[in-house]
Amino acid sequence: MSTWRMARGTPPSYLPDPLVQPIGAIENRVRRWLFGRGFALWYDPRYRLPLPSLEARTGVDARRPDFAAWFLLERGALAPGQVHKPARISYEDLARVHSAELLESLDRPETLARIYSVDPGDIRAEEVMTAIRLACGGTLQAARSCLRPPLAGSAARRELNLSGGFHHAGRNRNGGFCPVNDVAIAVAALRHEGFRGSVAVLDLDAHPPDGTADCLREDGAVWIGSISGADWGPLPGVDETVLRKGADDAEYLGALDALLSRMPQAQLAFVLAGGDVLAGDAMGQLGLSLEGARDRDLRVVDALHRIPSVWLPAGGYSPDAWKALAGTGLALAARSRAKVPAGYDPLAQRYSRIAARLTPAELGPPAGEDEMLLAELGQRSARPLLLGFYSAEGLELALSRYGLLAELRRLGYGPFRTTVTNQAVGDRAQLFGRAEGGEEHLLIECVVEKREIAGEPVLYVHWLTLRHPLARFSPQRPPLPDQEVPGLGLAREITTLFARMAERLELAGVAFRPAAFHTAYAGRAQLRFVDPARQGRFEALVRDLQGMPLAAATVAVASGSVMLGGKPYRWEPDEMVLWRTPHAQDAAAIAEAREAARFTVRGF
Ligand SMILES: [Zn+2]
Repeated sequence: MSTWRMARGTPPSYLPDPLVQPIGAIENRVRRWLFGRGFALWYDPRYRLPLPSLEARTGVDARRPDFAAWFLLERGALAPGQVHKPARISYEDLARVHSAELLESLDRPETLARIYSVDPGDIRAEEVMTAIRLACGGTLQAARSCLRPPLAGSAARRELNLSGGFHHAGRNRNGGFCPVNDVAIAVAALRHEGFRGSVAVLDLDAHPPDGTADCLREDGAVWIGSISGADWGPLPGVDETVLRKGADDAEYLGALDALLSRMPQAQLAFVLAGGDVLAGDAMGQLGLSLEGARDRDLRVVDALHRIPSVWLPAGGYSPDAWKALAGTGLALAARSRAKVPAGYDPLAQRYSRIAARLTPAELGPPAGEDEMLLAELGQRSARPLLLGFYSAEGLELALSRYGLLAELRRLGYGPFRTTVTNQAVGDRAQLFGRAEGGEEHLLIECVVEKREIAGEPVLYVHWLTLRHPLARFSPQRPPLPDQEVPGLGLAREITTLFARMAERLELAGVAFRPAAFHTAYAGRAQLRFVDPARQGRFEALVRDLQGMPLAAATVAVASGSVMLGGKPYRWEPDEMVLWRTPHAQDAAAIAEAREAARFTVRGF
């Protein structure tokens, strides 16, 4: 047996400030001390798939690993020293499981576009494969690491890799978000290194492990158990339980207890703690609650008390999928049933921590004497500032600290240049990035000013565009109204950034006036229409257009094909606001308007 070495690096820079501890963190730290020995987390910011259209096309939020990692660190469920960065898996490791044809096909954008249901014009194959190879490296390194002897008097080691569980990839075929099979690759590598022990694969994703069964069918020391919400026919070599559509917590946990009682003793276990078991998942058909999913994880932790285990997220296609993954981390690290607090926004939490470390001197120019004099005379500084505060250099530094320039680099841009200009109405900021060929492109542009909405001063966004000129439209992905080039997929980050600016400038919130349905739709998670009746009608419109692709829905609204009360509905471009502090929402008026409005689409 070769040495079970693990990669240890310097603590990464995404760790939270240890001096700021939220409520609940103390309890998590105590529980971590009591139960969390032998737990480790594998994570890299590059786990986020660099596919800007993924969310709009499939509803999948590529931020799931980030959100889970940030939450677990911020809540004190694990110590920074328990987080490890994986190395990319080698071609040799991949080739032990997959055919040369399959591996070669992964260099082609068309192959990856099919696997992720996006357009080939969106794919930079090398960058996507870096995300996948890091995930496979994490699964293998976690397996090696947890096979080390446990600490004296402790349970077996448990390690969670925040990307992986690609169980639909077989030896010669792939699909369904699974380019290669990380579990099979890890098992093959361990065998190559001399590990002969028996392996249990507990596949608790909502779909059957067809690829894993194919990859591991010749390894006589592997047992695969699975609970699914869909019947894909017989799977030789898998102890498979298929539950009815919509099966609830009790039914699922009953089936789990039965499966665990049949699970043979093993020297190593892989657990696919799928997030797609949740009710409302876009692709899974089960009906678990977040509490039920946590119960699942805690029961498996108990069953694997003496068996080292590697835990993987597998599928998860609902807005709550990241909470299921964070819950798996809480179960493993602190044996905790604590819920993710309602309304918790991991991106807002993280950005507020980064903002706290950006000083005014870094964001704006130090006020020179002549600039102060000009300000006293009511004149603009010679150096244009955004909202009288941010310099071009300061904005670029902020975009770098918040990780946005790193994301843009993964999409093929950089180096960058930022400009600020003062206009007759509002201030304009632009971010340009050079493409690899050398041509410079406009990537982000906004026009903003301070203005009063509903009697309070807000950061008012006149204009915002997030452009990805290296991506291409296609018949499957037509342009939205006003779109010259595809978007960057960073609307949520930029909105959160505007909220940080509003806080720094002591404004009450962020507001904009969506000119079309799709821009209101993009902001709906964070912003509300100021007028409760307008908000209610908008919620009814979102409800009634559900199932229609966003581009088609936008065109339908703009062209008058959407009917309200027998008449063509005209889009009402009113103000939407994200208030910094909770504002009493007229919930009753919103609900009344929502229930009163019934939209229909002609010819759909
Ligand atoms: Zn699944």
